[in-house]
Amino acid sequence: MGNDAPATDMATEAAAALTALNGKPADGVWSAPGRVNLIGEHTDYNDGFVLPFGIEQRTWCALSHRDDRIVRVYSTFSGEAREVPLDGIEDATFDGWSAYVFGVIWALTERGVDLADKAGVDLAIASNVPSGAGLSSSAAIECSVATALNEVWDLGLDSAALAKVCQRAENVAVGAPTGILDQTASLRALEGFAVFLDCESLESETIPLPLADEGLTVLVMNTHVEHAHATGGYGERRAACERGAEVMGVTTLRGLTVADLPKAQELLDDVTYRRVKHVVTENDRVLETVATLRGKGARAIGDLLLASHASMRDDFEISVPELDLAVETAMAHGAIGARMTGGGFGGSAIALIPVERRDEAAEAVLTAFAAAGYTTPTVFTEKPSQGPRRDV
Ligand code: ADP
Ligand code: MG
Repeated sequence: MGNDAPATDMATEAAAALTALNGKPADGVWSAPGRVNLIGEHTDYNDGFVLPFGIEQRTWCALSHRDDRIVRVYSTFSGEAREVPLDGIEDATFDGWSAYVFGVIWALTERGVDLADKAGVDLAIASNVPSGAGLSSSAAIECSVATALNEVWDLGLDSAALAKVCQRAENVAVGAPTGILDQTASLRALEGFAVFLDCESLESETIPLPLADEGLTVLVMNTHVEHAHATGGYGERRAACERGAEVMGVTTLRGLTVADLPKAQELLDDVTYRRVKHVVTENDRVLETVATLRGKGARAIGDLLLASHASMRDDFEISVPELDLAVETAMAHGAIGARMTGGGFGGSAIALIPVERRDEAAEAVLTAFAAAGYTTPTVFTEKPSQGPRRDV
């Protein structure tokens, strides 16, 4: 259990990778965290509410200046350097992992940021955010690159603007139709706080989440079941939400409240109704979680987390047996609440648990997965951690 290499080592690793690429020292290293979504799932693209926090695992971006107009990137993730000229980048298309990096630059040009007088850069990426685990390695890479470029190119963009840029990179350059949750969580993360985001107004607020002071921790259980955001179930769920909104005569599901559900049940087919019901009730649960955190504290949000999981399992139908087993086992071993987190169809579940029950629950999850014949999960703890920063 526990987390990966210490942060300073990872910044050094990114800088060393850059030097291996171009024989020059890094001019700086920037980093941004992955995220766990405490509650508010599949609400972001419905203009609803989300409540994520930045995690300890981060992605580091080492940068050195070039004197031409080429951007080159290397990742310890793939071992292969890719490059693109800044001239004409607004019309370029990208493939593979480098789309997350070049896509950020493309999205800057789409936004009208003038890069005509900017010099190229060499970038090297190193990360300890597990990929495809529902912890948003994709936003971490986008946000680390965007933070680095915002500073060295002196763009002066605030976190809300950078989040938009990173989201466009993921939506268009990568082709994954995700909302703005992940990028905002990474860019606005703050140690000891969760980020409460209204995806309609794009206003965000940090909400105290002093888990350690309350004797609590968040156990993350990565099932290693792979999800594919860019295709399949995620797109189908988005389409169902749009269909539901259209029939109900609202622009997005944000326009509906729990009081509208009986009418929705009358007008919609059963599957669409249950998709809509999840989103509408999940928005309510996020608001209630924020109010509860402000009032009674984190020990009182367990039932909201559990209700969120049940809604995703039964109504939105994005859980898998591995996630259900992780949730049930953690609950049987001391968790206050637990739910799957992230887009679904695999990835991770989280459990809010008293520190003294953490080891017992982690052991129990490993045992239960072995007994069920599932792939061995990775189980570790997270605490609300710092947002983007310059490390070197
Ligand atoms: P998640 O965001 O939940 O981890 P995604 O499917 O959204 O999952 O993003 C994972 C993708 O992000 C990877 O397949 C890869 O293309 C890219 N990626 C993640 N981390 C890195 C990295 N360190 N270097 C290069 N690409 C990365
Ligand atoms: Mg992602």
